[in-house]
Amino acid sequence: MEHIYDVAVIGGGIAGYSAALSSKSLGLDCLWLGADLFGEKVKKSEYVRNYPSFLGNGADFFNALEAQREREGVLFTEGRVDGVFRMKEGYAVSVSPKMYSARTVILCTGVDLKGKIKGESEFLGRGVSYCAVCDGPLFRGKKIAAVLGDPRFCEEAEYLAGFAKTLYVFAPFAGNYLAENIVVCGGVPRAVEGEGRVQRLLADSGAYDVDGVFLLRSAVPPEAIAGGLKTDGAHIVVDRSLATSLGGLFAAGDVTGPPYQYAKAAGEGLVAAHSAKRYLGGNA
Ligand SMILES: Cc1cc2nc3c(=O)[nH]c(=O)nc-3n(C[C@H](O)[C@H](O)[C@H](O)COP(=O)(O)OP(=O)(O)OC[C@H]3O[C@@H](n4cnc5c(N)ncnc54)[C@H](O)[C@@H]3O)c2cc1C
Repeated sequence: MEHIYDVAVIGGGIAGYSAALSSKSLGLDCLWLGADLFGEKVKKSEYVRNYPSFLGNGADFFNALEAQREREGVLFTEGRVDGVFRMKEGYAVSVSPKMYSARTVILCTGVDLKGKIKGESEFLGRGVSYCAVCDGPLFRGKKIAAVLGDPRFCEEAEYLAGFAKTLYVFAPFAGNYLAENIVVCGGVPRAVEGEGRVQRLLADSGAYDVDGVFLLRSAVPPEAIAGGLKTDGAHIVVDRSLATSLGGLFAAGDVTGPPYQYAKAAGEGLVAAHSAKRYLGGNA
């Protein structure tokens, strides 16, 4: 007979781990699926400075998470989910060619911020960053560049300017900036270059010598995984219980929007697990 899980958690990052860990403590029969355990955003962090009680780099963070996962017996199933389909009761989760069934789903697939500029994956964690709040302080007194996806990121550019000697801003819109060390540049950024670490950004308007490049933008349409899901650009629209527009389907972590931070992802994973439990009729 087909096994039906109480909850399928999709995404192996911090949000997914927290959702799986909390589901287990709440006594839910949980299937935790992800493309890679804890994700590359954990492994590639240069230094985790703002996660309560933790000090160290991404590799240390990975090891601490893995030790806890093993101790708590949280099972991880590797697999890339290619579709989540609404059934009469719950959801079918496709990891081709396999199919799983679950009464509820927690989507924790993060945001895919890579692949738009040549060299960006190569230099991730070696001068390329997607998070001004996390990595801005590492570039105190340095020349850096910020590539902004939309006006919501102007505030983060101002934040970066507080650390930088000079901040070159590239944006497809006209922004008003207060900081005097912000230089608004024309042209589209094309490539990040350097020897081992970022040394320059090549744009249509010229070559900029920089120590860091911040790529501040959102991506990945989550509705490509679960059809009919209400989204706001790259993010899933959720309420305070992290319920989405689809009954029994919850979302947590970067996929619900900024701030893109481990602590926010972990907190949302926990809340989503409690919401799934309540949806199933239990007290949480
Ligand atoms: C280099 C770097 C350094 C950072 N440093 C810090 C820091 O110091 N402090 C801080 O607070 N934050 C930091 N961040 C941000 C932090 O990494 C994110 O906010 C956090 O990882 C979000 O967790 P998440 O689980 O929501 O998403 P992610 O970590 O992105 O995890 C999502 C996971 O889902 C998987 N996935 C996606 N689609 C599918 C699918 N269809 N099927 C199966 N799996 C799928 C992905 O492979 C990924 O593993 C950093 C980010 C980067 C890139």
